[in-house]
Amino acid sequence: MLPNEWEYRQMICQIGQRLYSRGYVAGSSGNISVRLAVGKYLCTPTLISKGFMVPDDIALVDDAGEQISGRRQRTSEVFMHLEIYHELPEVQAVVHAHPPYTTAFAITGEDLPIDILPEIEIFLGRVPIAPYATPGTRELARSIVPYLHDGANTIILANHGVVACSDDLERAYFQVEMLEHYCQVLLIARQIGDIRQIPPQKIAELMKIREGLRTQG
Ligand SMILES: [Zn+2]
Repeated sequence: MLPNEWEYRQMICQIGQRLYSRGYVAGSSGNISVRLAVGKYLCTPTLISKGFMVPDDIALVDDAGEQISGRRQRTSEVFMHLEIYHELPEVQAVVHAHPPYTTAFAITGEDLPIDILPEIEIFLGRVPIAPYATPGTRELARSIVPYLHDGANTIILANHGVVACSDDLERAYFQVEMLEHYCQVLLIARQIGDIRQIPPQKIAELMKIREGLRTQG
């Protein structure tokens, strides 16, 4: 059974605490949303630390991003979240953050190497970098659409951060956390020496696992 609205509000606050405690957001940055029902979405408010939200802080918005209720104003990044929900009907949750190692890759614009760590291949697959667009604009929202249709569930936003989507809120958060861990490990590995890829025949085994997880839902 899916969580009810109150449970989702609590879950959003908990994910906010996890983003904040791990240093994935700074100041009032980052945002989280959940698809509640047709034309109804919960999203985090603007100008608040994501580590210190209570359930009543969470805003309720419609398909156009207009606020339905909530004592705090909804995030200006709501259009990016709504674009994902509109493009991918199966998505139930979106998490956006600025984790430092991931954002460092976002600044260099360097594509992430592939076939390096098993869990990245299984749970994230290819992580593209969408071209820079101004935060809070519809241009930013539209910039990620081609990558969504290409099958990406986690997208680096150039000179900005990362956005992840899933049919489950915690899984969307996991994707942000796994990507950040990956970027950190890559940086450390490069200081030690050359990065080695997993042999191609072993990658096929990982793809089988990935496919199996997908069909299990
Ligand atoms: Zn941002």
